[in-house]
Amino acid sequence: MQNFNFKSPTNTKEATKLASGRATFLAGGMSLLPAIKLRLASYSDLINIKKIKGLSGIKVTSKSVKIGATTTHAMVANSKDVGKTIPSLAMLAEGIGDPQVRNRGTIGGSIANNDPAADYPSACLALNATIHTNKRKIPADKFFKGMFETDLKKGELIEAVEFEIPEKSAYAKFPNPASRYAIVGVYVSKLKKEIRVAVTGVESVVFRCKKIEEALLNNFSPSSINSITISSKGFNADIHASAEYRAHIIKVMAKKAISSC
Ligand SMILES: Cc1cc2nc3c(=O)[nH]c(=O)nc-3n(C[C@H](O)[C@H](O)[C@H](O)COP(=O)(O)OP(=O)(O)OC[C@H]3O[C@@H](n4cnc5c(N)ncnc54)[C@H](O)[C@@H]3O)c2cc1C
Repeated sequence: MQNFNFKSPTNTKEATKLASGRATFLAGGMSLLPAIKLRLASYSDLINIKKIKGLSGIKVTSKSVKIGATTTHAMVANSKDVGKTIPSLAMLAEGIGDPQVRNRGTIGGSIANNDPAADYPSACLALNATIHTNKRKIPADKFFKGMFETDLKKGELIEAVEFEIPEKSAYAKFPNPASRYAIVGVYVSKLKKEIRVAVTGVESVVFRCKKIEEALLNNFSPSSINSITISSKGFNADIHASAEYRAHIIKVMAKKAISSC
């Protein structure tokens, strides 16, 4: 392990002030610590944000579910409020990794990390989420920029993620059997004004599948996407799945999600 300073501020102002130079925020440590141990990243200071009051918790209104950045995946999975208002989101959280990861990992850490195979980014796009930071509100459509890259600026802290409550929604994941990361994950939602379909695990960054969205606008049923062709151009290919296989699985997962809505 490399040497670093460990700081534990109790408020956002102090935390963001400390996050200059080669410092970085530490939430659950589920992605950051392995990266440091594997020498893929190195920092002078780790700013533990789990002691900051008000960053953890879930608030529900008639229109949205707002989840604090340091809320763990287990808290989301077990929340009665989330289960009642957006059951697909609770189910997504329950399907992340294993019990250790779910009890340490946080929603803010997951979307800040923006792993191309992570689950939450698809929920953010499909549920038209707003990312609240210490500086501004960022629509999910503008947040996820590229592989492990987001719109966050140096020292900008995610405080909460606010999801629109859909009329109906479902998430279907074809998981890597070891890590449970998505080989392909498809999140389908029917919102008040639009239908959104977000796909993770397939390209360098989560994306909306407009072809499926348009088909569902005409007829919200699994059969409505029968005639759609998904091109595998630019899709990820690795030892787990070829690009063509991923293209095929998108339709399979989309149908599964649509029929679970
Ligand atoms: C074995 C294993 C299996 C996993 N399986 C899955 C899976 O199936 N699906 C899935 O989606 N994920 C999976 N994960 C990842 C897991 O969800 C992590 O919780 C997540 O990627 C990082 O969250 P964290 O709270 O641990 O963040 P950390 O590791 O502490 O931080 C990650 C990054 O985010 C930054 N950061 C953290 N919080 C904030 C904030 N509030 N504002 C700004 N920046 C911040 C940190 O500086 C760091 O760069 C898995 C991880 C492991 C180790």
